[in-house]
Parts: sequence; structure tokens; C-alpha cells
Amino acid sequence: MTAFNYDSIDLAALPPETEPARQRYFIARLRHWTKKRREALGRPLTCFVTTFGCQMNAHESEKLLGILRDAGFEEGRDETADLVLYNTCTVRENADLRVYGRLGRVSTIKKKNPDMMIAICGCMMQEEHVIEKIRKSYPFVDVVLGHINNYRLAELLAERIDCGHQVIDIENGRRRIVEDLPAERKYSFKSGVNIMFGCNNFCSYCIVPYVTGRETSREMKDILNECRLLVKNGVKEIMLLGQNVNSYGKTLANPITFAELLKEVEKIDGLERIRFMTSHPKDLSDELIEVMKNSGKICRHLHLPLQSGSSRILKIMNRHYDKEQYLELARKIRQEIPDMAITTDIIVGFPGETEEDFLETMDVVEKVQYDSAFTFIYSKRSGTPAAKMEDQIPADVIKDRFDRLLALVQANAAKRCELLQGTDQKVLVEEEDDHMYGYVTGRLSNNSVVHFEGSKDLIGSIVPVHLDEARGFYYMGTMIR
Ligand code: SAH
Ligand code: SF4
Repeated sequence: MTAFNYDSIDLAALPPETEPARQRYFIARLRHWTKKRREALGRPLTCFVTTFGCQMNAHESEKLLGILRDAGFEEGRDETADLVLYNTCTVRENADLRVYGRLGRVSTIKKKNPDMMIAICGCMMQEEHVIEKIRKSYPFVDVVLGHINNYRLAELLAERIDCGHQVIDIENGRRRIVEDLPAERKYSFKSGVNIMFGCNNFCSYCIVPYVTGRETSREMKDILNECRLLVKNGVKEIMLLGQNVNSYGKTLANPITFAELLKEVEKIDGLERIRFMTSHPKDLSDELIEVMKNSGKICRHLHLPLQSGSSRILKIMNRHYDKEQYLELARKIRQEIPDMAITTDIIVGFPGETEEDFLETMDVVEKVQYDSAFTFIYSKRSGTPAAKMEDQIPADVIKDRFDRLLALVQANAAKRCELLQGTDQKVLVEEEDDHMYGYVTGRLSNNSVVHFEGSKDLIGSIVPVHLDEARGFYYMGTMIR
């Protein structure tokens, strides 16, 4: 992430074997290539990165974009760019379908512009049947790169340029953590920071552990160095990222807890807000609640995926908690930190889910009063234990349950939203308002969005805002001057 002097690399030498030196060598080679192309075309080369899926993937894209920037590409606006990269997600089937749709469309652009390069990476590429399909049906894709080894993007592009045909490179197993590669930031004032990769939980519906490999934590010193550098460069809010942050550090040579890591991140001067994603309820310790409670920087927002409120279903999901344990945890958090917003993920229509099971989910939603919830229709992922289960639920039953759940979630969220109406809150201003000229949009510590009158030079600062009106899931406010 530090500016690196690529001109110091000897391109006549063989590529180094060690990382990050090897990737820097290939970035330098691509820089040489993009420079020549730029001179020949009389314009800069552009790249366009599209991200599917979660916040972790969005952060992966920032790193991929960082590599491409250093390699001499400028960011383009759409798929007419010289290099188009899709960073895919495979957590639900519709994510896969959207990627195939986009590939179909970009193929027509490539027919008109055969010099353009198309690359595809991310979780979906970790599945064999996807690779087979791309090999067979999408031969125009130039580079296919796995999720676990995506740091090798520059190397693969260089190989593609040399060999002139489709290059596929997928690794399996544990992700190798390579430090000190470039990263681009979408926002100057907030950034994600990976603290761990992969997942060991094998929830029975979920493909993530199969496609992201075994859980691996980054060394605390590397995380802290990255955070310090970000803050030095103007970042005020950091989101610590992992599939299950509560088990951070367990596999390190000198094990430490997530709560201990948070205490160290808190000490960084100039850092104002800390967020993290995602917390698995089974591993959320009292120590963590205590650290959150005493912190002036950890935001008042906890994402605590429920998945189902039925203890019977939770067992089959392999979640390692039951309804009562979850409710007790939520109660404890609300008691210790009353202003903490709690949000969640819920799956509707897991195989064998009965009306009674579903009503248990509704009961938890009613009791916890979530500030918001992502509700998902169960998606069958081949290779997971749930895909083989009998009694998959018919679509019309799922649709009915989904609608009832959504209505309850929205009603509760609106009630929670009203609680802060009329109060003054600190807001990190994020962007100009999409819909209202002269307005900006920002976030409260609890992650709620507020719109208020203001100019774009407020972006990136934390300002006091009076919340005039709660509108279901966001606020209209007035900045206090
Ligand atoms: N590691 C995070 C979740 C990552 S996936 C956690 O455990 O909380 C994000 C969400 O997608 C999950 O919380 C789950 O609600 C949903 N999800 C995962 N697999 C799914 C599937 N097969 N069908 C529908 N939703 C799924
Ligand atoms: Fe998937 Fe469960 Fe891992 Fe989350 S904890 S990524 S839901 S297996």
C-alpha cells in the first residue's frame, strides 16, 4: 500500500520466487506494457472492476484495483474499458447467474474490440463446475483467477499477454497472506482491513468454507501497521473484516483474542471509529462485550447473524447455538450497551423448515427488535450438506414466509429508528446525496443513514447532526453549526 518505486526493478532478470517481490516484478512488467500501449494508442489504458457480494469482496476489489493502478491502468467508467475484471461471489445461486449474464453481455463488446481483456476472479472461481463452464462456453475470457490466490493478478495478466490464450490459475486450501501489495481506496476517510481469511465453521447451507479455504488470521502487527498507515493517510473509520471475527487469532503461533486486537486498534491516535464484520454468535465472548462497552471508538453496531430462530433448524444448520442462547446473548448486549444497534441475517426456507420452525424465527425477530436485517431465501449450493437434504421447501411456501418476515423486520426497524428521532448525533459524512441537490449523506455510529443539507466539502468529517425525522430506516436531519 505504500507507493513503491517500480522503476528500481530489473525486468531483464528472472522473476523473484518470494512475495511480495514477485508480484511487484510483474506489476513493473505490466507498467512497461501499458506504457507502450498508451504511446501507441495516444490515450491511457483503462480498467473497470465490478464486485459481486459482500463487504469483504468489495475490499478485495480495492486491492485488485490497487494492483491495476500500479500496473498503469486508469479507472474506466464501464465495460468498454481495456480491461474488465469481475470479482465474483457464489454464496447464493442468483449471484452466479448474474455473473453469467454479465459475461454474455461483455462478449458482444469484445467482438467489436478484440484487444480488450476480460478477467474473472473471486469465490465462484473456486468451484470446478464453474471453471469447466468458463472453459467451454466463455473462451473469450482471458484470465481466470481463484479467490485464494487473487494477489497474483498482475502475474496472470502478464502471462496472458505473453502466451496469447486463456490463462486459468486456481489454488485450493489455505490462503497465503501476502503483505505490502498495493490497494486503492474507494473512500479516502474509511477503509476495510482484513484481519482473517477463510472460514472453518461449515454451516450446512454455506459454500463459503469450501471456496475461501481454511481460517487464517493475519499477524496483529501487520494489521496494526496497516491501520496506522491508513490513519496517517486520512482514514477515520476502519472496518475489521473476517467471516467470523470472534475467532480471530486462535490459529496464530502466539494466539490472541479478537477483544485484545480491538484494544490495540483502539489505541491508534487519530482513528475515530472502529467497526467489524461478521460476529458469529457462538464465539461472542463476555470479554468482547466488555471491550465494546468501554470503548469510545467501537461503533454502536453489532451484526449478529441469527439464520433461524428454531433450535431444531439451528442444530441441522450446524450453528452451535440454540434459540435460548441467542436470545440470552442479545439480552446481555442490550443490557450492557443499550445504545447498541443489532442487525442480523436470516435464511427462510432451509430444508425441512416447518411453519412452527418459521414462527420461532418470527418470535426471535419480535423479541430482539433488530435495527435491520438481511433476509435471504435459502439457496441450494451443491457440495454443501444441506443440498442433499430431503424436504426442500416449495417456492410458494418460502415466498409467503419471506413476505411475512420482511414485514415484521421492517416494522421493528421503523420502531427502533424512531428511538433516536429528536436527538443530536455525531455523523461521518460519506457522500453527496444522490437524490437531493445541496444535501449530503452520512452514517451514525449505529450505522443508520442520515440525509441533511450540506456541501461536499463536509465529506470525510464527523459533524453533529440533529435527527429531525425518522423515516423507517433512515433519518432527515439538520447539521448543528
Ligand atoms: N460469515 C458470515 C456470513 C457470510 S455469508 C456469518 O456467518 O455470519 C452472508 C450471509 O449469507 C449468511 O449470514 C447467510 O444468512 C447467507 N447465506 C449463506 N449461505 C446461504 C444460502 N445457501 N442460502 C441463502 N442464504 C445464505
Ligand atoms: Fe458460512 Fe457459517 Fe462460515 Fe458464515 S460462519 S461463512 S455462514 S460457514
